[in-house]
Amino acid sequence: MDFTDEQIQRYSRHIILQEVGGKGQKKLARAKVLVIGAGGLGSPAALYLAAAGVGTIGLVDGDVVDLSNLQRQILHTTASVGKPKVESGLKTLAALNPDVTVKTYQFHVDADNIMGLLHDYDLILDGSDNFSTRFLVNDACFFAKKTLISGSIFRFEGQLTTVKPHEGYPCYRCLYPEPPPAGLVPNCQEAGVLGVLAGTIGVLQASEAIKEILGIGETLADRLLIYDALEMKFRKVSRPKDPGCPLCGTHPTITDLGGNYTVTCSV
Ligand code: ZN
Repeated sequence: MDFTDEQIQRYSRHIILQEVGGKGQKKLARAKVLVIGAGGLGSPAALYLAAAGVGTIGLVDGDVVDLSNLQRQILHTTASVGKPKVESGLKTLAALNPDVTVKTYQFHVDADNIMGLLHDYDLILDGSDNFSTRFLVNDACFFAKKTLISGSIFRFEGQLTTVKPHEGYPCYRCLYPEPPPAGLVPNCQEAGVLGVLAGTIGVLQASEAIKEILGIGETLADRLLIYDALEMKFRKVSRPKDPGCPLCGTHPTITDLGGNYTVTCSV
């Protein structure tokens, strides 16, 4: 694969970086990233992945754009209200970079459809907004041996980590073995979220995804990044592998996606 003059110009600020170069840019062009959720985290992440020239981006989301989404979900515009999020996202990403193939999946991931979806992608970026999907995505990526970039936001605080147990690192359940019980943690709709926080964490997810594709820098696979927007504080805490982990431990109790992944929402 050779770049056209136009592509060399488009990606010139990458290509002049020694750590990326033409070789790295080709890795990006060959990369296939699945973005789960075209919402607060998926929007900025997908925009930067497309801008960076990631060759194939999958967008999966079963929702339509709601006016209350526009405070943070920057893939969508006022004109997209009422339209499927994946349709709106496709339009925005295609306008930004025609080099990128955007594949859309207008449904919510579940235990029945997720393995088929992951199959076509090298790297998964989770921007889902509920615990049940987050645990399902973690478990599915574990079984499919796919690297997962996980992000979450709540009020003024965000968390970010890279999950790749197939390379000997801990899985997400090593940190949080089970989703919290229903009603313990309110969702964004009830608790609120600072819109720009979604941008911060989503862009950091894109940054870690690009580093994983390029194989450069330090991985976040054994660390958890915690960002407090109010205090303007970033903390990186160690995230060790748990030998008693129900998924990747020595005696796992989760051996397939047959478990209960029902949505845990506040009541
Ligand atoms: Zn684990």
